[in-house]
Amino acid sequence: MKVVLPDRSELELPDGATGLDAARAIGPKLAEQAVLVRTNGAAQDLRLPLADGGQIQILTTRDTEDPDALYVLRHSAAHLLAEAVRRLHPGVKIAIGPPIENGFYYDFEFPEPIREEDLAAIEAEIRRELAEGREWIRREVSADEARARFEAEGEPYKVELVETAEGAISLYTQGDFTDLCRGPHLPDSKPIRAVKLTGLAGAYWRGDERNMQLTRIYGTAFYSQDDLDRYLERLEQARARDHRRLGVQLDLVHFDDHSPGSPLWHPKGMVVWNALEELRRRENARRGYLEVKTPLIYDKALWETSGHWEKFRESMFLIPKEDKTFGLKPMNCPGHMLLFGSQLRSYRDLPMRFAEASTLHRDEPTGTLHGLLRVRHVTQDDAHIFCTAEQIEEEIFGCLDFVAFLYDLFGMQARFELSTRPENKLGTDEEWDFTEGALRAALERRRLGHTVNEGDGAFYGPKIDLHMTDVLGRPWQMGTIQLDSQMPARFGLTYMGADNHEHTPYVIHRALLGSLERFIGILVEHYAGAFPFWLAPVQLRVIPVGESHRDAVHALARRIRDDGHRVDVDERDETLGKRIRDAELEKIPYVVVYGDRESDASLAVRERGAGLSTRSLAELLDEFRRLAAPAAT
Ligand SMILES: [Zn+2]
Ligand SMILES: [Zn+2]
Repeated sequence: MKVVLPDRSELELPDGATGLDAARAIGPKLAEQAVLVRTNGAAQDLRLPLADGGQIQILTTRDTEDPDALYVLRHSAAHLLAEAVRRLHPGVKIAIGPPIENGFYYDFEFPEPIREEDLAAIEAEIRRELAEGREWIRREVSADEARARFEAEGEPYKVELVETAEGAISLYTQGDFTDLCRGPHLPDSKPIRAVKLTGLAGAYWRGDERNMQLTRIYGTAFYSQDDLDRYLERLEQARARDHRRLGVQLDLVHFDDHSPGSPLWHPKGMVVWNALEELRRRENARRGYLEVKTPLIYDKALWETSGHWEKFRESMFLIPKEDKTFGLKPMNCPGHMLLFGSQLRSYRDLPMRFAEASTLHRDEPTGTLHGLLRVRHVTQDDAHIFCTAEQIEEEIFGCLDFVAFLYDLFGMQARFELSTRPENKLGTDEEWDFTEGALRAALERRRLGHTVNEGDGAFYGPKIDLHMTDVLGRPWQMGTIQLDSQMPARFGLTYMGADNHEHTPYVIHRALLGSLERFIGILVEHYAGAFPFWLAPVQLRVIPVGESHRDAVHALARRIRDDGHRVDVDERDETLGKRIRDAELEKIPYVVVYGDRESDASLAVRERGAGLSTRSLAELLDEFRRLAAPAAT
């Protein structure tokens, strides 16, 4: 048989040769370092036979960042974890242990609950296994043999997995531990140079809350200690920025079990919210949007017309009322359709841009809620633009221009993804050629690089999704710009054309920041809580040195407040040092410490990240006026 190598050369091998055989045929060094073979793009255990004529790539311990190479390493580390846990906790039952992004986990049913502190001992046991060295032996068995084996071992989860398994059943054994597993696995444990257990969590068996709750141990593994150290450092930075922690520390927001996924905004959080709202209103007005307000609940008949009843009902909160059913709105579009249809419209009225940032509710499953990043109570900076076919490109261009402005303002890099016609599209190929062309032309004219997701558009039209990368390099899905020719037709909307005929308008659904909740969550992490002046809940804190300075401090605070800035006074009975430190922890941009030497002519100003300097009140006010207007970073 023959296989094709990455350099397109062909390698002759005896029939039934495995990935390892191929590696050996290329060179002994490669065989020693091999961890996995990729055949026709799919990861395969080195011990399995290769397909004749297939394209293969041998991955080695030097492919330290290759996702498949990391996957097989971490999957193997998960098995070491299970072996260690079984030895240290007799009576434990093992469930599943897959690799995941950034690591792996294994689910266990412990006879006695374990705590975070217990992880150190388990990690030490894994290190002992690594020092001893382990080899993985793969064996294919019948379902009966596998079932009998795990029944004898008292492993009910494995028995259940055998019963529901499809295809061939394979076992992997290392040391005295055998797991039911499809693989692939490393030949041996030598490539695992760094392992770290990272945490504990509860997890239901098969993700179903009616099942037993198991204990999930998370961990990660790398091909080198350096890689692990770098990863842990990034994790630490992310933790320090976690908006769920900072949100509470900065007194912005909290959540309560009485309304999962719905933030309770504190006064300081509302300052940030309102600053964004002001920005949204002002920029919308400048760009010809008209602010509207539509109901929160509608008769289900409206959701049937819009298509949400069919496509989105699972995610809607419903309210029965007498013989009717109402639904809390998950989106603003149907209300805006009613608004457009409430009057006769002419081509002269178009484009017509309705903006609304009202409260939307989406019944996200409890398990998927995540601080402000995934909520049930969603407030989008939403708008719907009704336009003619000829206006599409210009309007999309306007949206893109708006996006570029907003993301610049926050120093974020937006990425654009154009999604094109899906299999189940409505409308003809000619129509899609036209609409996709208009979106592409707008992207090119605004000089925005973009990637294309073929076939990923909505059934009613192509779309442009916005993704951003935060300062830690983590990607987030943000806003969306979607072209739709279907919903206006479902509502029977028309406008009178210049030709005196009725036409159906197009609508562009667009939310640029996405949801305000998520956007604020991301801002908190992006700035690590140190908001720019115009967003900062408290812009200046004044600290009187002693009792005798209080009157002067309050007078100073009042004058700065009268100028429209957010000032507070810290006159607690704490030491000066403690009060200055607290202001730093709260990440307040400016602090004035007011003592005997201070006056309007000379204030001791501590600027966040810039140290101490002296300024007059007039100079400080000038600076504040400049900073109060949002400006691109
Ligand atoms: Zn496995
Ligand atoms: Zn919409």
